[in-house]
Amino acid sequence: MFEQEKYQYLQQTASSSFQPKAALIDMDGVLFDSMPHHAKCWTDLFRGLGFSFEEKEAYMHEGRTGKATLEILYRRELQRDPTDQEVKELYGRKARMFDDMPPAPIMKDADALLDVIRDAGMQRILVTGSGQTKLFDRLNEAFPGHFSEKSMVTAFDVKKGKPSPEPYLMGLQKAGVLANQAIVIENAPLGVQAGRAAGIFTIAVNTGLLEDEILKEAGCNLLFHSMTELKEAWPEIIKPLSK
Ligand code: MG
Repeated sequence: MFEQEKYQYLQQTASSSFQPKAALIDMDGVLFDSMPHHAKCWTDLFRGLGFSFEEKEAYMHEGRTGKATLEILYRRELQRDPTDQEVKELYGRKARMFDDMPPAPIMKDADALLDVIRDAGMQRILVTGSGQTKLFDRLNEAFPGHFSEKSMVTAFDVKKGKPSPEPYLMGLQKAGVLANQAIVIENAPLGVQAGRAAGIFTIAVNTGLLEDEILKEAGCNLLFHSMTELKEAWPEIIKPLSK
């Protein structure tokens, strides 16, 4: 199973083998069902500023740094960049709105998938554009034993954020593996782009409200609709393949 997709990956990246040893895992919309909360916060924030903004747009911007999202909206709505002060104030406001919401539930079977990855002898590295401190606390509570500071890339580590390959390249460094020895797990189009730009086999799990086509166009190598589906397929996905 999935041999065709793996061969295609080898061709795309001019790699001679696919031998996964680490999973680089996004957080929002993958481990936690937190995207509806984020989308609501961004929508309330932007509409409060008098901007036109649809909730679906938040899903398209997912993975960007807060600063990058604010810049795009400011340029579109006000034809200028936000000042550093505005970025600080508005992103701070959005983060507080998020903190005030009830905790986002764990994505169904995310914990079971992490266990399957661990039991296959693979590293788990978190790669997120988020800087929400509360979610990091919850990570250890929800998925004990899976992540430590050494195995996390967050908004505090990266300059560019997704869709730049930077966060996933840092993830490879943290894992100490090459691109063809890793698998990215993402739910967002920009995250899929980032994984592919880093030369990594990238799996999209469509847990939100965007069409599958958008994730396929972003370049995912495989697409699933739930962590449960991905967990079932994992043993087949990680079977090595050489040219
Ligand atoms: Mg995500």
